[in-house]
Amino acid sequence: MKGIEHIGIAVNSLDVSIPQYEQLLGVPCYKKEEVESEGVITAFFKLGNVKIELLQATRPDSPISKFIEKRGEGIHHLAFDVQNIKEESARLQENQVRLINAEPKNGADNKLINFLHPKDTGSVLMEICQEK
Ligand code: ZN
Repeated sequence: MKGIEHIGIAVNSLDVSIPQYEQLLGVPCYKKEEVESEGVITAFFKLGNVKIELLQATRPDSPISKFIEKRGEGIHHLAFDVQNIKEESARLQENQVRLINAEPKNGADNKLINFLHPKDTGSVLMEICQEK
């Protein structure tokens, strides 16, 4: 893994959280993007080499809806930048780390993504992502 690409934060409402994070971070949101397959709208902020990704659910069965129901707003996942998501997936599986999806999926921000099973990561939801 090359480093932390972004930190994903679950929020109830981007309309509330985007201005809040713009004030907190002192940088503007540079991109909003819906990821239909995940049932989320994302909003990105860039700080040095790391991004903050705010995630708002678009439907009740979205993983973000379920997360907020259980735990409220807050840090949802850590995303690690990888050179080659297929090779990194194979390496992880050789080390008994399960992946959530059998194949990488299209994520926001021009990425191929997958998630690691939280039971295999000490309960931290981790994403791996590769620039397309
Ligand atoms: Zn993410």
